[in-house]
Amino acid sequence: MAEAQQYDVIVVGGGHAGTEAALAAARVGARTLLLTHNLDTIGQMSCNPAIGGIGKGHLVKEIDALGGLMARATDLAGIQFRILNRRKGPAVRATRAQTDRQLYKAAVRAAVEAQPGLELFQQAVDDLILQSDGRHERVAGVRTQMGLEFRARAVVLTVGTFLGGRIHIGLSNYRGGRAGDPPSIALAERLREMPFRVERLKTGTPPRIDARSIDFSVLEAQPGDQPVPVFSFLGAAADHPRQVSCHIARTTAQTHDIIRGGLSRSPLYEGIIEGVGPRYCPSIEDKIMRFADKDSHQIFVEPEGLESVEIYPNGISTSLPFDVQQALVRSIPGFARAHLTRPGYAIEYDFFDPRDLAPSLETRHVPGLFFAGQINGTTGYEEAAAQGLLAGLNAARQVQGLPPWSPRRDEAYLGVMVDDLITRGTNEPYRMFTSRAEYRLLLREDNADLRLTETGRDLGLVDASRWQRFAAKREAIERERERLRACWIRPGTALAAAVEQATGEGIGRESRALDLLARPGVGYGALTAVAGLGPAADDAVAEQLEIQCKYAGYVDRQRDEIQRQRQQEAKVLPLDFAFDQVRGLSAEVQEKLQRVRPTTIGQAARIPGVTPAAVSLLLIHLKRLS
Ligand code: FAD
Repeated sequence: MAEAQQYDVIVVGGGHAGTEAALAAARVGARTLLLTHNLDTIGQMSCNPAIGGIGKGHLVKEIDALGGLMARATDLAGIQFRILNRRKGPAVRATRAQTDRQLYKAAVRAAVEAQPGLELFQQAVDDLILQSDGRHERVAGVRTQMGLEFRARAVVLTVGTFLGGRIHIGLSNYRGGRAGDPPSIALAERLREMPFRVERLKTGTPPRIDARSIDFSVLEAQPGDQPVPVFSFLGAAADHPRQVSCHIARTTAQTHDIIRGGLSRSPLYEGIIEGVGPRYCPSIEDKIMRFADKDSHQIFVEPEGLESVEIYPNGISTSLPFDVQQALVRSIPGFARAHLTRPGYAIEYDFFDPRDLAPSLETRHVPGLFFAGQINGTTGYEEAAAQGLLAGLNAARQVQGLPPWSPRRDEAYLGVMVDDLITRGTNEPYRMFTSRAEYRLLLREDNADLRLTETGRDLGLVDASRWQRFAAKREAIERERERLRACWIRPGTALAAAVEQATGEGIGRESRALDLLARPGVGYGALTAVAGLGPAADDAVAEQLEIQCKYAGYVDRQRDEIQRQRQQEAKVLPLDFAFDQVRGLSAEVQEKLQRVRPTTIGQAARIPGVTPAAVSLLLIHLKRLS
């Protein structure tokens, strides 16, 4: 047999975690191999072709700030962009894009092929090669289905929903990694021999519908935002392909009756599926049972692509038998003549308890072996991609003899996610929400580059052109801040009158233009449109400066809070502390606290399910009591 080829880092899996991992490892100079089942499915979206949303969009911006691919690929493939929560505060504003499935895959494939230091190979990996270093068995490479060996000092496994994958449609089920792809059985068995804690999870997808069989005239159109948002800090609306609308449909009482009638043939309700599904993305049968009082559920009718006739009906993920799927879809107004192009299904798969991981995403049991993505119990492309970037980076750093890097909870959602996973584990598919972060105001989408690009540059993840663009933006923000700080507006002057007219705000005492910008009613655009206070800076600079000014007080308080939190661990909770009186605590967290009755904040924080956000609420309540 030919001698095994040697790499620094091998990444197994060409999904969202795998591609970011391989790109990150190669970007920082590791000789990298991306090994995957099928090169034609690199960057494939297993479920809805959509990227971003609340919490997830934040992760995408962070990946981008660290030089990753997901935001750029989305800009090249997005066919409907929206900013969610636009009217709420900047902390929870989030970008979301419906993409063209084929264009997305093409963008990822092109980026992977263009990356120096990264090679591709198509084969299933069946086994890990381990080697003793005297103290431990550490990873030394992988063996493929046809017996080929590839050696490396670090291996990143990003095999998604494929490990021991089983697909369910009604009461029939079969092995599969996702529809149309083989499962990973040999590798799953091999990993089960190792000392990892293995559990099963499940996820699902809806049937797809031929758009030509839908009556769009009875659906509510949902166009994208104008001006069209952009995902990457380097992107522009001109990068986007043609934009189209999504639509909204609604289930009816008849739909719910059909679903209830099919439950006796549901693998979920007949106990055939044992894996736990995503609580926040439930199947339609789950929704009907859990929210029995609701007589209608919204369905987002989303195109799969510009050249595709297929529609993704977001909201009716199901594993009911195909005849029930067909009947339930046809009971929805607008879908009476619907032709289903693919059945919906659920998939069960193995995942590994992420508490067996270090913050670098290296496994604690096998040095040199890293896990990223769905294999760690998460769900979602964005969660997978962010972990992939981190694992790929740290795999490369380990080979290069450098210390691992991972962001703190107050630096990035990526830090929140990894910390949640490795300290609390998960017993359901973990997805990102802004509510998981206790320092939401610091971790905004709009400042992801300001939070992370400099670190990314130091780590070698950010190339010179991104760095120059970023540095120019950062300087422009500071220049504009200084300019507005130097502009004084004195009451009674023509300038003051013009400002009052433009902004609708009385000046009051003598003020700097910068201080006026901190007031809630004064917009940057209106202020800089006043003769003598312009010219306005470009949109990105203006947005950043305005948010920084308006929220400076809150942000400063959060920073102080971070300092204080570090000293809070030992704070005593009185024995008679009334957990049910703490404002904002969910019933679930209250119940956990009542049961354990922790005596310190540190103890409360370590109870699984008690989030850092809940700890903040306890601290606030404690302060009120004192
Ligand atoms: P994947 O994208 O699954 O990629 C895994 C890659 O590894 C693939 O390229 C595969 O070919 C390769 N691979 C696997 N085993 C081997 C091997 N032994 N050798 C070589 N290559 C291998 N997420 C949501 O957020 N919301 C949803 O509603 C949702 N629904 C879903 C429904 C279904 C049916 C599925 C399958 C997934 C769904 N997801 C959903 C999850 C989402 O697709 C994943 O979270 C995301 O794709 C995970 O990325 P990943 O890189 O970890 O794995």
